[in-house]
Amino acid sequence: MERTCPHCKSQSGRAHGRYRRLSDGARVPRFRCLDCKRTFSEASEDVCFAQKKRHVNHPLWMLLVSGVSLRRVSKILRISRTTSARKLLFLGRVAKRELRESLQYQPKLECVEFDDMETFERSKCKPLSISLAVESGTRRILGFEVSQMPANGPLAKIAKQRYGPRPDQRIRGRKRLLRLVRKLSKRNVVIKSDENPHYPPLIRELFPRGEHLRYKGRRGCVVGQGELKRGGFDPLFSLNHTAAMFRANVNRLFRRTWCTTKKREALTAHLALYSVYHNQNLKCQRPA
Ligand SMILES: [Zn+2]
Repeated sequence: MERTCPHCKSQSGRAHGRYRRLSDGARVPRFRCLDCKRTFSEASEDVCFAQKKRHVNHPLWMLLVSGVSLRRVSKILRISRTTSARKLLFLGRVAKRELRESLQYQPKLECVEFDDMETFERSKCKPLSISLAVESGTRRILGFEVSQMPANGPLAKIAKQRYGPRPDQRIRGRKRLLRLVRKLSKRNVVIKSDENPHYPPLIRELFPRGEHLRYKGRRGCVVGQGELKRGGFDPLFSLNHTAAMFRANVNRLFRRTWCTTKKREALTAHLALYSVYHNQNLKCQRPA
């Protein structure tokens, strides 16, 4: 059997025994390169290469998309908090790739719902905006972007005193997300959103042949700032339902939680983990 050597790229890898991997007991074949005499194995190419606790990757993923906090996950799986924090970032990269690849070969989109939701990093003075795009009908998550934004309302002044001016990266984030949506969509795609005045110019620019439908916001009712709090027909149901699923399953997005985001990258990774799980477990895979 010939293998490409990862060290010198020659085709001279030959079988060179096996070894037993310490972390999970798997027997992994080794190879030796006839040109550079160095050895390598199938594991060198593996995404989990050099991980000592690869067996906890899957349970960690499942717990993190089921509303368990990072701290509690560490306790349940008997790993350190450093390990679980590192694994979150690692699995986030895997999940991002999986999400992208799973959407690539699907039929082109006809109808997409789009909106922003808010959270923060460390302090409510440092808000973050999550732009989210969902396929209408199936509730499939197409993508998301996490962007910094300045605090508004009564906190704006305090935030500025404490942390100085905070850049608003929302437009850039939305643009990046909508460009991705464009790649996955038919030219005459229908985009549904609320009446946020920042959306129309953006959508006109990126979807010149698409149609933009805007609906009156349904926020600010009865129980605080929640999604899905009012009955009746909701034209943005797929999006609001998915946003509510984020809030119900990603611990750091719970309403009134002790858990908060400390690092933006960790939030992005966590959302990617949830998105892959969400898309794999949808009942309806096709637009209705
Ligand atoms: Zn070689």
